[in-house]
Amino acid sequence: MQCAICKRGDVKPAAVEAELKVGGDHLLVLVDAEVCVECGEAYYSTKTMRYLEHVREAFEQKVLTPTSIGQVYQVS
Ligand SMILES: [Zn+2]
Repeated sequence: MQCAICKRGDVKPAAVEAELKVGGDHLLVLVDAEVCVECGEAYYSTKTMRYLEHVREAFEQKVLTPTSIGQVYQVS
């Protein structure tokens, strides 16, 4: 499969950290995806999209309480 974004790169299976933004929180979720070797664009399967949606909901409902690996700061 060829990348739809740069139209040059090949898309290959790889494990990536998908980033979910929930309010001011960012969740990094390790998932399998297809990643463009040229531009790095990641393509998720329908199954993975559903999984990420599930993770988001579980986080919003505080069912899932992942370990914090950093803070988000705002400088104004
Ligand atoms: Zn690409």
